[in-house]
This record gives sequence, structure tokens and C-alpha cells, in this order.
Amino acid sequence: MSPRLVWDIFENVIASTPRCSKSEDKIREKIKKFIKEEEKKNNISHSIKEDKIGNLSIQRRATDGYQNYPTIIFQAHMDMVCETNLQDGFNFKQNGIPLHIQENEKWVDAIGTTLGADDGIGVAFALALLVDSDLKCGNIISLFTVNEEDGFDGANYIEPEKLDLKGKFYVNLDSGPINQVTIGSVGGRRVYLRKSFEFLAPTPEKLRFYKIKVEGLLGGHSGGDIHLPRANANKMIARLMTVL
Ligand SMILES: [Zn+2]
Repeated sequence: MSPRLVWDIFENVIASTPRCSKSEDKIREKIKKFIKEEEKKNNISHSIKEDKIGNLSIQRRATDGYQNYPTIIFQAHMDMVCETNLQDGFNFKQNGIPLHIQENEKWVDAIGTTLGADDGIGVAFALALLVDSDLKCGNIISLFTVNEEDGFDGANYIEPEKLDLKGKFYVNLDSGPINQVTIGSVGGRRVYLRKSFEFLAPTPEKLRFYKIKVEGLLGGHSGGDIHLPRANANKMIARLMTVL
């Protein structure tokens, strides 16, 4: 798979490290360790900064002769969605994700679990830019944020000064097709719904409770696949509840 450096990082630094949303300590430490090891190998110097919520920024100083180039900030989120449809479940807190290359040798996936390409591959590219010894570049800052998937905490509570985030361009590496650049997109909104109800049976103790699950759907991403005619588990449960 190419570029080799990016895939090596994806496999050995990222996929092998547990990193569910709100549990980014391990991946943050792994990234710092990787950068320090690479520094010794490649003689590239970096400065590493963190803020209170747990975002990490790593700066690679410009190559000699490139100091006048504008600083570019690349951003990717460290966390991933941890979902499985394996019969026995999967311990995402303890285990990395075993990668699987499909027979066509074109696609990498995971068997029975989410892969974490969102945004693991973005993190891999942002790290490769920091350590690629063939690259001649101006200042580069790679910014790795926490908990994008479950509340945008990293973006909401970012402390740009602590992270020394000064740059001319800001490129987010969390999108789909590799040859597409998005220059604007819709936002997200969180909705809290509260509803009080009364039990119809005389005492709640006498009620029987059932657990209803919707699973085995095709999956997909609410951003890129929203237009496809796929079932959505949230909507199906809601529809079911209204007719019960
Ligand atoms: Zn993402």
C-alpha cells in the first residue's frame, strides 16, 4: 500500500493503539513517543505542546532555505468510533484494531469492528508530514484533537495560545476522497429531548421490560453517505417506538 510511510504509521502507531472517544491518553502518548524516536533517526527537530482538554500540537521547523514559507497547520482528530458486531463483542479499551487487506489489495478494513480510518488516516498523514526526511518544507504544525466523534470537545475547548497555533493556512484532514478539497460544510447540532410519562400499569414493579436492538445494517457516515438509501438505526428505533 502506498504511500508506505503513511500506511506504516497507520498500522503501527494508530490502529494498534486503543483510542475510543474520550479515552485518548494512550494514543497521545504513543504519538509523542513515535515523534521522539523519529527525531533521533532523522535529525528533524519538533516542539510538542498540549492543552488542558488533551489536544496535542507538534511543530516541525522549516527546512533550511524554507523559513520564509507560510506556516501550515494540519489537523486531525485522535479518537475513533468504537463499534462492533462481533458475537462476543470487542474490547476496544485494551486492544488495537487488527487490519485486514481485502483480496483486491485496494482496500483496508477491519473484521467485525470499526476500522478507525476516521480519522486515523488523517492522523497518519499529519504525522508523516512531521517525520518524512525527504520532505523540504516551511514550518508545519500538526494538530491532533480529542473527542471529535462524541461532542467536538477538542475543537470546543481548544487553547490556541497554549498550543502555539500560529499559521497562515489551516487544513483539516478529516474528509473522504483523497483528491477532494472541501472549503465549507454544514455544522452539527446536539438535541436534548426530555419527556415525562406515566406508567399505565398500576405498579412499575409488575412491568416487563424488553430490550430492542437494531443491528446488522450497512453502516456509513452521516456526512458522506447521508444521501444513500440506507436504513438508520436511530430512525428505525424511533419509528418502531411510535407504533408500539
Ligand atoms: Zn472524523
